[in-house]
Amino acid sequence: MYAGRMIESDVLNAVPKGLLIGGAWREASGGGVLAVEDPATGEVIAEVADGTPEDALAALSAAADAQEAWARSAPRERGEILRRVYELMVSRIDELALLMTLEMGKSLPESRGEIAYSAEFFRWFSEEAVRVHGRYMVAPAGGGRLLTMKQPVGPCVFVTPWNFPSAMGARKIAPAVAAGCTMVVKPAEQTPLSMLALAGIAMEAGLPDGVLNVVTTSRAGDVVEPLLRDPRTRKLSFTGSTEVGRRLIEQSAEQVLRVSMELGGNAPFLVFEDADLDAAVEGAMLAKMRNVGEACTAANRFLVAETIAEQFTGRLAERMAAQKIGHGTSDGVQVGPLIDEPAREKVQQLVDDAVSHGAQLLTGGSAIDGPGWFYAPTVITNVPAKARIASEEIFGPVAPVITFKDEQHAIALANATEYGLIAYLYTKDLQRGLRVTEALQAGMVGLTRGIVSNPAAPFGGVKQSGYGREGGFEGIEEYLETKYVAVAL
Ligand code: NAP
Repeated sequence: MYAGRMIESDVLNAVPKGLLIGGAWREASGGGVLAVEDPATGEVIAEVADGTPEDALAALSAAADAQEAWARSAPRERGEILRRVYELMVSRIDELALLMTLEMGKSLPESRGEIAYSAEFFRWFSEEAVRVHGRYMVAPAGGGRLLTMKQPVGPCVFVTPWNFPSAMGARKIAPAVAAGCTMVVKPAEQTPLSMLALAGIAMEAGLPDGVLNVVTTSRAGDVVEPLLRDPRTRKLSFTGSTEVGRRLIEQSAEQVLRVSMELGGNAPFLVFEDADLDAAVEGAMLAKMRNVGEACTAANRFLVAETIAEQFTGRLAERMAAQKIGHGTSDGVQVGPLIDEPAREKVQQLVDDAVSHGAQLLTGGSAIDGPGWFYAPTVITNVPAKARIASEEIFGPVAPVITFKDEQHAIALANATEYGLIAYLYTKDLQRGLRVTEALQAGMVGLTRGIVSNPAAPFGGVKQSGYGREGGFEGIEEYLETKYVAVAL
């Protein structure tokens, strides 16, 4: 049950609103602030510091100054700080979830889910911090010895999106801390509060000054570019759109930075004629409606065997039409607002374009009158390949259905995109499941599962969905360099 306005204002008041630089909360140089809005009402709920390029460079100086001592700290010490962050997050899950719902719009149960997921990265990497090691081997020709050691990459710059305001930062901060790197984080302008709250917790957990610095800003380009062009920065990890990612890769070229890119997706969701339809519809709801479709992992195209398409689509439309829409803090709400008006306008344009190319609406298809940026859960069928919705990331609660004739056709349709983050497939035939999985051009596959995210697994894409992996054993490698030592013996 939603706790009411009193607690809402308490939670908002408790969040630090300044820039975190060298362990101190500061105003922006020049004193500017940026407003944070509730996308379900359009109301301003808080103001935070609007950082400048000078502030960003001050944050980088703090990170660079802290780097050497942090790299020398004991892995166990780093692990224990991460463990305390995990425990504090779990103990404050209600407050953190409410904060996230207020700034981002997702329902409270989804926000709780994200905080729990986010906290798990701190637990996972608290355990990984003490498992970084190298090797000692006899050179193949005999005589010499080959030694390898792992060392932190150095100061990092992290840029994160609004759709998962806590988890997208946690997936970078936790492994970087475990590896012994310092960092400057720039969260999304629309959702800075969750990151500020997380940074407050990290400081409370005992993270030394300067290891984690946070710069909120309304001028992303002006603030990030000087950081990437500064020789003290050694690594960029970015989560966001492919368009911005491409630009940041270019900027990172100057200092030849280590780069991780978690970019856009256009996930196919394949349903074969032998699939368990109950499980497929359940999985489809998860893969489509988590975060109201505003997820890089959201099923973007439902590719369904033509023999069962009508049955699957009818059941999906029934479930979509029954979703409860409203303010994310209200009881029982499953579908909150989209992040802003341009996001909703883009969803409408994609639906209108598909319909103008002959697709049929089974449910939804329009915005819901305000306040807030709500859009009705939508299913469209008979979507032709030339419709924009078949190739563009929707980022909203819209499920387009396209039919296929056979397995080869399904694979060809699934791979006909420049993206390659994730694919989902439903079949009861294990051999087909593995055969199709191998043929799919994606960094991740949900094999009869509608959600794959797990802090113990390597999350990431191929093609224009980016490179690098977050989570799993692989996640910490993004923050480590391997030094090889040739030993004469
Ligand atoms: P976005 O517009 O690319 O923004 C992401 C971040 O980049 C924000 O912090 C943004 O700041 C910043 N930014 C924007 N322009 C910049 C510039 N010129 N220089 C430096 N930073 C800049 O993406 P979004 O709309 O927030 O997020 C949605 C996208 O993220 C989707 O494409 C989604 O698929 C992708 N995503 C991918 C993953 C993954 O793991 N693969 C996970 C989640 C989301 P402002 O907020 O101030 O604009």
